[in-house]
Amino acid sequence: MSWTDLARNGRILVVDDAMENIQILHHALRDEHEVLFALDGEKALDIAQEQRPDLILLDAVMPGMDGYAVCAAMRASPRLQDIPIIFVTALSQPEDETRALEAGAVDFISKPFNVAVVRARVRSQLTIKRQADAMRELSMTDGLTGVANRRSFNDAMEAEWRRCARAGLPLSVVMIDIDHFKLYNDHYGHQAGDICLQQVSAAMARCASRPQDKLARYGGEEFILLLPQEGLEGAEVVARRILDEVRKLAMPHVASLTAPQVTVSMGLATVLPPMDSTDSGGLVRSADNNLYRAKQSGRNRYCLSLSGDSGADGAA
Ligand code: GH3
Ligand code: MG
Ligand code: MG
Repeated sequence: MSWTDLARNGRILVVDDAMENIQILHHALRDEHEVLFALDGEKALDIAQEQRPDLILLDAVMPGMDGYAVCAAMRASPRLQDIPIIFVTALSQPEDETRALEAGAVDFISKPFNVAVVRARVRSQLTIKRQADAMRELSMTDGLTGVANRRSFNDAMEAEWRRCARAGLPLSVVMIDIDHFKLYNDHYGHQAGDICLQQVSAAMARCASRPQDKLARYGGEEFILLLPQEGLEGAEVVARRILDEVRKLAMPHVASLTAPQVTVSMGLATVLPPMDSTDSGGLVRSADNNLYRAKQSGRNRYCLSLSGDSGADGAA
């Protein structure tokens, strides 16, 4: 990917209480970018939570929640703090510019603006954002929860697969997904959702503490636990512990259709890794299938076989 490609196709949120400013910016940016807009600060935060834009063009002066307050709220949210903000404003004193940068903005554009300048600055900030995203991906931990990220999980899986193959030992995975988490966000807000993710991942990390065990954030509210040198029985012990620890967290979830508190569902799978292949796709797929079965059969439980032999599955 070239530098110019890096700056294209970003998703940009334009926040301004004047529709005509939104229209001008939309017109200036729509050829290269997806443009979202909000007419006030609160709506801007909602859209940022839902749509995760790559960049925000933010009007400083708005009735109600102004640009500085939006900026401060974004910087305080682990989910939003990495989204760059450019202030676009009629204020033009050096103090205004300083105040915007101190609030956490990455750049400042004065109104009336020149469209070519806006486009160029947007491109330059998008390039920096993409580079930062790539760096984060190269790092091994998930920024929100502090557990391993997917890339780090894949590396560990490959190494442990070989090790278990050589030793003739099994290797297990547990795929874990928080139940009704969309309803949790809808009811308690995304910031509470983030805290929930942190607490649930910390609880799960306590359940598998051998040095070779590896808990990773696999996707949004989905985690995967690698248990090298563990067969299905060992994985089941860990899964039961996870159900237990999450129950002990006792995080209220009044919108859940499963229980009045936060619960998780899990899918377990084990393999005796062959020497001649390190393809773990099948293992992860069967854990995922079992997770799906756990969801279908009531959530807040684990499933471990596709054979219909559900006697071995466990509910909380
Ligand atoms: P199910 O019990 O079937 O798993 O239902 P669910 O609502 O948990 O599953 P669904 O996949 O419909 O929703 C997942 C939600 O997780 C939607 C998404 O907004 C939220 N989510 C993903 N990543 C994050 C995050 O980093 N922070 C917050 N707060 N929410 C997130
Ligand atoms: Mg879920
Ligand atoms: Mg999910």
